[in-house]
Amino acid sequence: FTAIHRSFAEQARWRPDRTLFELPGGGSITYGETEEVVRRIAARLLADGVTPGDRVAMQVEKSPEAVALYLATLRVGGVFLPLNTAYTDAEMAYFLGDARPRVLVCSPGRRAEHAGREAGGLVVQTLGTSGDGTLLEGDGRHDGDHDASAGDPAAILYTSGTTGRSKGAVLTHGNLASNCEALLQAWRYTSEDRLIHALPIFHVHGLFVAVNMTLAAGASMHYLSGFDADAVIDLLPRATVLMGVPTFYTRLLRSDRLTPESCAPMRLFVSGSAPLLASDAEAFRARTGHAILERYGMTETGMNTTNPYEGPRKPGTVGRPLPGVQIRVSDRETGRELPDGEVGIIEVRGPNVFSGYWRMPEKTAAEFRADGFFVTGDLGRVDEDGHLCIVGRDKDLVISGGYNIYPKEVEELLDAHPGVLESAVVGVPHPDLGEAVAAVVVPRPGQELQAGELLESIAGDLARFKRPRAVRVVAALPRNVMGKVQKAELRERYADLFT
Ligand code: ATP
Ligand code: MG
Repeated sequence: FTAIHRSFAEQARWRPDRTLFELPGGGSITYGETEEVVRRIAARLLADGVTPGDRVAMQVEKSPEAVALYLATLRVGGVFLPLNTAYTDAEMAYFLGDARPRVLVCSPGRRAEHAGREAGGLVVQTLGTSGDGTLLEGDGRHDGDHDASAGDPAAILYTSGTTGRSKGAVLTHGNLASNCEALLQAWRYTSEDRLIHALPIFHVHGLFVAVNMTLAAGASMHYLSGFDADAVIDLLPRATVLMGVPTFYTRLLRSDRLTPESCAPMRLFVSGSAPLLASDAEAFRARTGHAILERYGMTETGMNTTNPYEGPRKPGTVGRPLPGVQIRVSDRETGRELPDGEVGIIEVRGPNVFSGYWRMPEKTAAEFRADGFFVTGDLGRVDEDGHLCIVGRDKDLVISGGYNIYPKEVEELLDAHPGVLESAVVGVPHPDLGEAVAAVVVPRPGQELQAGELLESIAGDLARFKRPRAVRVVAALPRNVMGKVQKAELRERYADLFT
């Protein structure tokens, strides 16, 4: 077992002059230079009193130094706690109260918000995007390295809060290292790779998939502050891998600059965090010749399954378990394991699975089976090729008149209508049925959608009880930064449709 910060340190010692960050302005930062910043920040954290197990929270805009802060935290034995930059002061109060970090690193502009918290013993440092901030002041240099065991906590990541209040998932050094190793193998990721990094670094996808893989492989990344289709297309000729959420692909496809020539050296396009639209997968292949590789993961487990690197990638599936990861599908009520083909709750066990929710022992106990499988809360089935297909979240399941309706089945039929760009199906309260199916659809640009005609077009393929009782046409679906459709928001918006 080699902890992620050790893998990075080895790369930095072995090839200090190799580029780690390629910056939009044309500058670059090497592994060796990053190592120096990590040492400086590590000294600062120690001076601030961070001892092993202490949380170091970060809410800053994306910068190379933010990655150095992550590594420095691990190096002094701290527990890294990155927070969404969109969180307001009130939300921060919840997260800081829950996680009780020793140090909070915030953007220089938000320092004043936290002034009152210092009385409670929190040390507040700042970090800007141009090498500024109090975190980088001082000329200390820490050469030591806390000797982490596989079972020691490395990070607390809060879940996206799609289904309720965000929960802190405690991930160990072993979780991070094993998942990184499995992904390096599965995706043939090497020091030759040049990744386009346009994701936020406060989620698993941008930090533990994209950054960890790059550091451990000794690869480099085009490090963008956020996603911009033109900026990404400009970089494709100088990159080999793009890791994105589905909306990246939807937006890239809107540009006619996306051509086979524009992505000549690219070898891999990855999608995850939310379901990839089948129509986008097909359009992307037709336009570029590349089959997007879809994978499935979550905050609590890192990555679980992936479509194959070699061999056919099946759109609409998230592939097979990564090496070392076990997946099973169980009856959502009885917990009995189901045969392939049947829809049930997805459960996962392996070295990637987290140690538990932070300060929520009951919740943790409730989500684990006696034999160590974690109950994901996602519904799915295993198809005839052994690929996992996700049909939606357990909490999004619609139960209408006693019948279960999996939103994805209805959404796929709606999406197949030529006038529909995308759709979301939710259950809303209904006086007779308990819940009724409501469809929220986004028309393709320039298309008029007729609810009646749309419903007729899918009626032949859908049992009556699954058919939407109402259709609402909207300009766009509500999404968070990771491109996840906010179904809870839709349920709230349309709660009064039938009552
Ligand atoms: P919360 O747990 O707080 O409600 P969340 O589940 O959205 O929020 P994350 O851990 O960021 O928080 O997201 C993991 C979820 O994202 C998975 O459980 C799954 O529902 C969804 N997901 C990830 N990858 C895919 C994919 N390829 N296809 C479909 N869904 C996916
Ligand atoms: Mg979740």
